[in-house]
Amino acid sequence: MSASVSRVGVVGLGTMGAGIAEVLARGGHSVVGVEVNDDALQRGRDHLERSTGRAVRRGRLSEEDKAAILGRMELGTSFAGLAECDLVIEAVPERLDLKRRVFEELDKVCRPDAVLATNTSSLSVTEIAAATGRPEQIVGVHFFNPAPVMKLVEVIHTVLTRPEALTAVQELVGGLGKVAVTVGDRAGFIANRLLFGYLNQAAGMYEAGYATREDIDAAMTSTGLPMGPLTLMDLIGLDVSLEVCEAIYRETRDRRHAPAPILRRLVTAGLLGRKTGRGFYTYDGAEQAEERETEGVPSVGVAGSGPLAVAVIQAAVRAGADVRFVAGDDDKARAVRDAVGEEVTGGTDLSLLADRDLIVEAVAEDTAVKRSLLAAVDDVAREGAVLATTGATVPVIELAMATDRPQDVVGLHLPDPEGGLAELVSTVLTDPGVAERAAAYLTRLGKRPVRSADRAGFIVDALRVPYLNDAVRMLESGYADADAIDAAMTYGCGYPIGPIADLDRIGLDRAVEVLRALYTEYREPAFAPAPLLDRLRTAGATFR
Ligand code: NAD
Repeated sequence: MSASVSRVGVVGLGTMGAGIAEVLARGGHSVVGVEVNDDALQRGRDHLERSTGRAVRRGRLSEEDKAAILGRMELGTSFAGLAECDLVIEAVPERLDLKRRVFEELDKVCRPDAVLATNTSSLSVTEIAAATGRPEQIVGVHFFNPAPVMKLVEVIHTVLTRPEALTAVQELVGGLGKVAVTVGDRAGFIANRLLFGYLNQAAGMYEAGYATREDIDAAMTSTGLPMGPLTLMDLIGLDVSLEVCEAIYRETRDRRHAPAPILRRLVTAGLLGRKTGRGFYTYDGAEQAEERETEGVPSVGVAGSGPLAVAVIQAAVRAGADVRFVAGDDDKARAVRDAVGEEVTGGTDLSLLADRDLIVEAVAEDTAVKRSLLAAVDDVAREGAVLATTGATVPVIELAMATDRPQDVVGLHLPDPEGGLAELVSTVLTDPGVAERAAAYLTRLGKRPVRSADRAGFIVDALRVPYLNDAVRMLESGYADADAIDAAMTYGCGYPIGPIADLDRIGLDRAVEVLRALYTEYREPAFAPAPLLDRLRTAGATFR
């Protein structure tokens, strides 16, 4: 337990306040919880009882511990009980007028040396502090939901906060076994500022008809995220999502946070996500996962000899497909055979691909090379074959037009060649039946196809790389360092890797390439590579 803070008040015992009270009592603090009326107090008690009861059933807590935790709490409806607290954490609904009123009241009843903290997600801590006569004693402590589980706590200081007040809160948070990241008072702090730009973009992508909600979510979970962006917004609540975007937009005027129109429409219609039973999705249990028509395993031809070609051949072999490959010369054919096994038929003559159901072009990322290869494949491929190009930096239609059958050409992008996800791209000319067939083939080959429009970055790169770029801009602005940014996203949002580490992993060259393609297509300032990213790339350096 931290030395300076032993008795802690919590105002509001809703989703967050009850969770925070539990964390504090588990950490050995005596807790004074205050609610607005008896009904709300009872809901708070029920919440605490359920949460600790669940921990006992799962064997994470003994009955005695549970009793001790609840025994450390005094719950009531009067602020007077807060008079002897060293620290009070406010967790009432996210409305500035309400929070200011609560702080005025706290200022009256609490000891003059007590630190007053707000759990606001998006309001200005400075504006809340201004409602009191002790702005130097005000900090933000931003816990994440569910508070007992999530490791991150953002600790926010304003320009007026006294260092001692900040230290007291940092020590308290550290003593609770949480990871504290300390930042200044900017809308969205670190985690929400980076998360909501991406969520808002995903909403816009869905609204534009670029891909289905299921495919957008499946594409992003394939990168290791705990859930897709539309499911996450439904869980957070679309009203809360809208409000957080608005708050960040008000401060930054950055279009990336200007709420996607669909978000406002859904909120206006009262469709707030999971809590009202409908948001981007409907939660009546009636939804069925879409069934894709599947046929037999297709025969597969692969043109290329690099790592991507090898990964495609291996996936097809694993799925039991009859596979052939064609490499540029004998040495390359030898190298492929060494990688995939002698039993796979291959060579250097494109006519090997003549009878294939699915032909995947996976040669070097060079438009001229890809176009001439596709033209040559067009000459040998049987009628009805699906031609898939893996080109990712020019529109797929530019490659498809190298053939005389653009209606049979689809784009195929494997964000992680070893992984299960396949982005399947239809151009403006792709025959819908061909796209269906391609999706069925990919399913039989053990991939989860997601359908994307022929737009720069398809789904995964278009959503992931701008978020990484936002993180570099934040780093560049001096608001937070690389460790704080990575910790915020891994501990606060459950990302498998922080954005700065992710950039070093995927390569700065590739990130800049994707951003340039996105910028060329949309002319959106947020997609222009952050100068720091571009300079490090030019220097051949990495972030760490
Ligand atoms: P909530 O609606 O679940 O809980 C708020 C509680 O405050 C309610 O129980 C309400 O009765 C009580 N309350 C209202 N007025 C009060 C008053 N004058 N005095 C005492 N209690 C009062 O809301 P929540 O989701 O717990 O959010 C609380 C705060 O935490 C907000 O600022 C929110 O932005 C922030 N936050 C929420 C999340 C989340 O995921 N829900 C995550 C991080 C931060």
